[in-house]
Amino acid sequence: MENDIFQGYKGKALAVLKKYNVRVWGQAEIETTRGDFKGTVLPRAEHQDQEHIVLKLATGYNVGLSISTIKNMKETGYHKAHYGIPEKEFPNTPGLPKVKLFGTGGTIASRLDYRTGAVIPAFSPGELYGAVPELAEICNLETEKVFAVFSENMGPDQYIALAKAIGKEIEKGVDGIVIGHGTDTLHHTAAALTFMVQNPPVPIVLVGSQRSSDRPSSDAALNLMHSMFAAGHGDIAEVMVCMFGPTSDDYGLLHKGTRVRKMHSSYRSTFRTIGHTPLAMVTREKITMIHKSYHHRRKDKDVKILPYFNDKVAMVYYYPGMKPDVIDSLIDSGYKGIVFVGTGLGHVNRHLYPAIERAQKKGIHMYMTLQTLWGYVHMFVYDTGRDMMARGIIPTGNMLPEVAYIKLGWVLGQTDDPEEVKRMMLTPVNDEITDREPYNGYLVYQGGVPEVEEFIKKVEK
Ligand code: ASP
Repeated sequence: MENDIFQGYKGKALAVLKKYNVRVWGQAEIETTRGDFKGTVLPRAEHQDQEHIVLKLATGYNVGLSISTIKNMKETGYHKAHYGIPEKEFPNTPGLPKVKLFGTGGTIASRLDYRTGAVIPAFSPGELYGAVPELAEICNLETEKVFAVFSENMGPDQYIALAKAIGKEIEKGVDGIVIGHGTDTLHHTAAALTFMVQNPPVPIVLVGSQRSSDRPSSDAALNLMHSMFAAGHGDIAEVMVCMFGPTSDDYGLLHKGTRVRKMHSSYRSTFRTIGHTPLAMVTREKITMIHKSYHHRRKDKDVKILPYFNDKVAMVYYYPGMKPDVIDSLIDSGYKGIVFVGTGLGHVNRHLYPAIERAQKKGIHMYMTLQTLWGYVHMFVYDTGRDMMARGIIPTGNMLPEVAYIKLGWVLGQTDDPEEVKRMMLTPVNDEITDREPYNGYLVYQGGVPEVEEFIKKVEK
């Protein structure tokens, strides 16, 4: 019984709850040295420390209160929450497209299991239908949980497994693929899949959510509907990311897998296309193209799966004062490739030159990208750029740093020949390098235009 009342709490934290007679699922007012808090006491995950009590605040956010700061606690009510999603059989509707949903984890897949701290992948079709019944009007759904991890734990092995799984689904004749994924590294995976799954005949849509489905402002349901629509009915057969466009829930945006980046830690409209415009706007019944040319859906199955990755590649984000030992340690650890993220047009300081020369002699493949994200690496403008090119660093146009990192790992998984590596790095697979960036694309064309207009109206009043 005690287990039920104090779910997961042990040791010191349990003693504190008992002392003040506060139960798990109790509404509590807690006085701490850091201020007063009010919320619901959540069960503690088995593998979490026993130094904290976790409260769900009215805002939906969870806070961990260190027990050493607690001065007093009072239970003011009790309400046991049920986070279970009722399972309903997903209907099979003749005529609707067949979409495969791969689950990898992240917030989109989550209701938290407060006992284990694990994210419960709400990914059986029945669970999803229970949570978002509208999905059944969009497609016939098949689901498969490939991983159940937060996206910081995605990496080369997972990219390879996903690419192979996608290849098999395409072979089986699916109409579209959706991949549920944590948002933090969604853009790394989108880049990896763009390189590993080439010439797909159907849409491959990565989707996440910034707020879990147990929160009222969750974006999970809409993002799922938009991505399923794009995958099942859309004509864009590319690897894309589908997330909120504006901060309102008016529409989603489809971003190219090589030109997208998470740009805000908490906004639902966190994904922005960089160096280009988003591909299209999407609602649950319509896709409005922004790009004129794109890869169209096809009936064949001529996809190329290239599941390669050499993980001895590093990304070095330059900062003023960086010392050469950073580069030396990569050389000494046997790294084969380095993607620099330089300042301005692509610069690092001259103290690094000897280490860069050493790397060059060792045959390490070195590429330059930009911290500014928008714009092009230009290494002919200043001496620094010329000095670096003379030491073997190759500019990558307007390729995003994370994309260049993923691409170098993928290329070095296939060849070590410097000329071939360079050729592959600088030959775009799907717009990771473009000739031109849209005029003022970083200010407008990002799906927030109505909001910009609203803002201007307010300022002008
Ligand atoms: N940390 C989570 C992840 O990337 C956040 C999310 O899913 O949005 O897996």
